[in-house]
Amino acid sequence: GDLTKKEVLERAKENDVKFIRLQFTDIFGAFKNIAITIEELERALNNGVMFDSAVIEGFAHNRESDIYLRPDPYTFKIFPWRPRDGAVARLICDVYNAKGDPFEGCPRAALKRVIKQAKQMGYWLQSAAEIEFFLFRTDEQGRPTTDTHDQAGYCDLTPVDLGENARRDMVLILESMGFEIGSSHHEISAGQHEIALKEEDALIMADNLATFRFVVRTIAQRHGLHATFMPKPLATLNGSGLHLHHSLWKDDENVFYAPSHTNCLQLSKTAYYYIGGLIEHARAFTSITNPLINSYKRLTLGKLAPALVAWSEQNRNTMIRVPAQRESGTMIVLRSPDGTCNPYLAMAVMLKAGLEGIKNKIKPPAALEENQLNGGLGKLIRTHGLPHNLDEALDALSTNEVIKDALGEYIWNRFLEAKEVECERYNATVHPWEIDEYLRNY
Ligand code: GLN
Ligand code: MG
Ligand code: MG
Repeated sequence: GDLTKKEVLERAKENDVKFIRLQFTDIFGAFKNIAITIEELERALNNGVMFDSAVIEGFAHNRESDIYLRPDPYTFKIFPWRPRDGAVARLICDVYNAKGDPFEGCPRAALKRVIKQAKQMGYWLQSAAEIEFFLFRTDEQGRPTTDTHDQAGYCDLTPVDLGENARRDMVLILESMGFEIGSSHHEISAGQHEIALKEEDALIMADNLATFRFVVRTIAQRHGLHATFMPKPLATLNGSGLHLHHSLWKDDENVFYAPSHTNCLQLSKTAYYYIGGLIEHARAFTSITNPLINSYKRLTLGKLAPALVAWSEQNRNTMIRVPAQRESGTMIVLRSPDGTCNPYLAMAVMLKAGLEGIKNKIKPPAALEENQLNGGLGKLIRTHGLPHNLDEALDALSTNEVIKDALGEYIWNRFLEAKEVECERYNATVHPWEIDEYLRNY
């Protein structure tokens, strides 16, 4: 249940906490924090802590506006890898403006708004996550390299899987912080790993994903390794995805399950409309779920990553898959997102798209199964493909009112602005591939 401010103060005292990190996520998904001492905790819980809004917008500008970080008592956690005496704890914060309203640039507030819209329709979103990442060696200076830490493959064991110790530490630490871990394994690529988080309410899952990345990177570093969620660090190997499971609930009933709909996979109309909404708005929300130029190098055919705006039961080329579990385990899996997204914004845009599907009764196209492809995949990519690069994804975002509404105009503007600059910088760069390909012949 929810911790009250009083309980947080008691727990901090019992555990001899000396420092509290007030954490929040900027628009681009970077986890930030401001440390305060235990003496400041009560005041911070009651009044928030003032700061400059530049930190959350990802860049400083001339107009500096004050924001307040208001810790959410529910998110109090002690870092288990820090000393037991003089412990370090954290609180995730909501960001407010000077007037006391949620700050327009706060991603957590954007997600809370969409969750509220779901609630007004009678729903709450439950989400689980499978998160893939690479463990790379670091050089003598501690800088990350792209040397994979082992040569193991899918579900290999020690001694081939050298990451097992690091991964075990990550799992134990996450569990001691109250995370429920579904499973963990070595992924297909050398040096690639996956940890699955069990289902939670959407807001908690977004908080957990932000924390997860920070914990995994911290523990990797303690093993002399670099953990990265970069979607495609090595061109020839499988990339890393963030598969998000969605199920929609009314109180304690999973509304995606309809036992009597035996001709429709026992999925409810609500489930179909939710899928319909996701497919309708996929091209526009992909810039949020896949925010890097590098993200689009993963979303290509042939490496088990999705490339099609479509759904299926079995086909891994589609962005949505409906696994076989039914009853309370009925869910859809979004396979397109990657672990570099802002988890709050990603959850907000996906939920919003699904809700729009329900509201407007958007029928999804027929499921796309393997036997329907008949080698026509290349053509389908042109007609039903996810955006091929960040430029395309941003174009789609810039004209979609539903996704704009989920983000709020402020975040939508800032995001487009910053990402367009990122694309321009990339497009103005001459890449090694071009030198190899063109220099000799032209
Ligand atoms: N790595 C793949 C992706 O990019 C998924 C492969 C898998 O989970 N088996 O999504
Ligand atoms: Mg998996
Ligand atoms: Mg996987």
